[in-house]
Amino acid sequence: MHLRIPGPTPCPPQALLAMGRQMINHRGGEFGEIVNSITEKLKQVFQTKGDVFLLTASGTGGMEAAIVNTLSPGDKVLSISNGAFGERFADIAEGFGAEVIRLNFEWGKAVDLDVIAKALRADGDIKAVLATHNETSTGMTNRLGNISAVVKKFDKLLLVDAISSLGCINLPTDDWHCDIVVTGSQKGWMVPPGLAMVSISEKAWQAHAQAKMPRYYWDFSKAKDFLQKGQTPWTPAISIFYALDTTLDLMLSEGLDNIFTRHARVAQKARDGVKSLGLSLFPDEKYASNTVTAVNADDRIDVPKLIRVLREDYDVVLAGGQQKLSGKIFRIGHLGSVEDNDIKSVLEALNKALPRAKKV
Ligand SMILES: *Cc1c(COP(=O)(O)O)cnc(C)c1O
Repeated sequence: MHLRIPGPTPCPPQALLAMGRQMINHRGGEFGEIVNSITEKLKQVFQTKGDVFLLTASGTGGMEAAIVNTLSPGDKVLSISNGAFGERFADIAEGFGAEVIRLNFEWGKAVDLDVIAKALRADGDIKAVLATHNETSTGMTNRLGNISAVVKKFDKLLLVDAISSLGCINLPTDDWHCDIVVTGSQKGWMVPPGLAMVSISEKAWQAHAQAKMPRYYWDFSKAKDFLQKGQTPWTPAISIFYALDTTLDLMLSEGLDNIFTRHARVAQKARDGVKSLGLSLFPDEKYASNTVTAVNADDRIDVPKLIRVLREDYDVVLAGGQQKLSGKIFRIGHLGSVEDNDIKSVLEALNKALPRAKKV
């Protein structure tokens, strides 16, 4: 089965094998070695000298951790959103009592840096900015470096959802002054769902010291204290640690630049391929993502039927659209363990399935 959705992604055999290992004491030295090994390797992929923590959660848990560790109820937060995950980040902040100013841009279109600057200039009380690096729901990548330059001109905290980009698309955390970056194990990391990984800058630690939002499980102070002992505060998803230790070795031996180049090449193949089938891309192509390709269904394609035919008859699993894009687009995931041949298989299957999934 070709699992080509934007997470969970296929796990390489080494990762599957690693997870067959017996349990160990999470308060013992053996686990400490694994945690320390993973943390050091993660810092290389995050391109940070700051702290990186492993939380037992899906990506959304990491997003919640970013919010509750840096903000207080009543704090003003600027949300930059052009898709479903941007809206989720804003919803979390609002849920914990932040006063969220929502800059909602058209889905699939670039955010407007001037509008962001204007919003920051208009309200000096804004404490933090929420941004999505790769908007998985629309298949586009926001120019985070440019967004960061604006946010940092106003010296605001920058919290980034990089769940479907980190480890696939370049994101130099320290160079781009990202205060918190969140990612999730089931995306580019080639391991099952169950871990969120987060980086924390010095500025984020300063915010943390003042932050009064309720938190217990996600408390970064606890994470830091325990990491000094080679532990996590709570019982971790040990099997996924085994797998991640293995896939990080694969990633670092391939090299970050090679990984980014491979994702760019495979994504270009996906975009060229769907266009050659007479289809069009949902997002502005200038910003099209290297981890997920979102394709317009127009009025011709019955998306649920297409996805069913692909799975039942061609062993290919694709994703539909989310929320208001449900039925309007379908999405091909190409992140983590993906090569040119995987895209070739998807395109061959699409070529056969499309005529069978016409709207009647
Ligand atoms: C997958 C994803 C999430 C949500 O992660 P879960 O692991 O499902 O909680 C959030 N943001 C983006 C950009 C994603 O791709």
